[in-house]
Amino acid sequence: MSHQLTDATHIVMLKRVEKCGYMIVNLVDWNIFSIKWSGKQWAVDLAQKTCTCNKFQSDHFPCSHALVAARERNLDFTSLCADYYKRQKLIDA
Ligand SMILES: [Zn+2]
Repeated sequence: MSHQLTDATHIVMLKRVEKCGYMIVNLVDWNIFSIKWSGKQWAVDLAQKTCTCNKFQSDHFPCSHALVAARERNLDFTSLCADYYKRQKLIDA
């Protein structure tokens, strides 16, 4: 995993990843995933960076569903985060 993220962001992300273990992922389209867990269902669009739980687009940070989808695609989690969560941008600021 890349270490571009700030330490705090990285810890939050790892905690979210832990919760993902039991989620069921189905690829709907190239960037669209259906995530099922505990009787609920969400749709994640990795291209638009949206999820039907609304956390992804409001936090500008992947929700646990988006992380599951990213893992399924072997996508770097950091590419889904807004720039201000990344270490390099903080140094530049
Ligand atoms: Zn979500």
